[in-house]
Amino acid sequence: MNLGAHNKNERHLTEKLSTSGFRFTPQRQSVYDVIMHKRDHPTAEEVFIRAKKQMPEISHATVYNCLDALVKSGLIRQVQLERGATRFCPNMEEHCHYHCGACGKVFDMALPKNFTDMPQPKGFKADHYDIAVHGLCADCAGKRKN
Ligand SMILES: [Zn+2]
Ligand SMILES: [Zn+2]
Repeated sequence: MNLGAHNKNERHLTEKLSTSGFRFTPQRQSVYDVIMHKRDHPTAEEVFIRAKKQMPEISHATVYNCLDALVKSGLIRQVQLERGATRFCPNMEEHCHYHCGACGKVFDMALPKNFTDMPQPKGFKADHYDIAVHGLCADCAGKRKN
């Protein structure tokens, strides 16, 4: 990542946090960087392990607090794909999650422009979409055949 992009990212983070009444902290920056760096939909535990590499003194509670602030500020979203751990995704465009049930990989796929045309209950006002497709990724589907 070049420095320009990083500064822009930091300004964006500060603005979004303050609009939702949160202060900018180095810990929040660090947790956000972790999620932006490797967009593989990590769980809170995985974020904690990665954040600790940059900031060895960061605590579990702080990471949870940071994730909460980032979600409430609209910088990341929570994703629930299977029973158990919540995952975190920094892609705030409406998109679809393809989840591999064998290796657990999650792929972001853009939704077609007209996806909101799909049938909805009469009078229903949708405010956000949470669309997931479950199956096997190419690698895992290939393994099954052999
Ligand atoms: Zn995603
Ligand atoms: Zn897989």
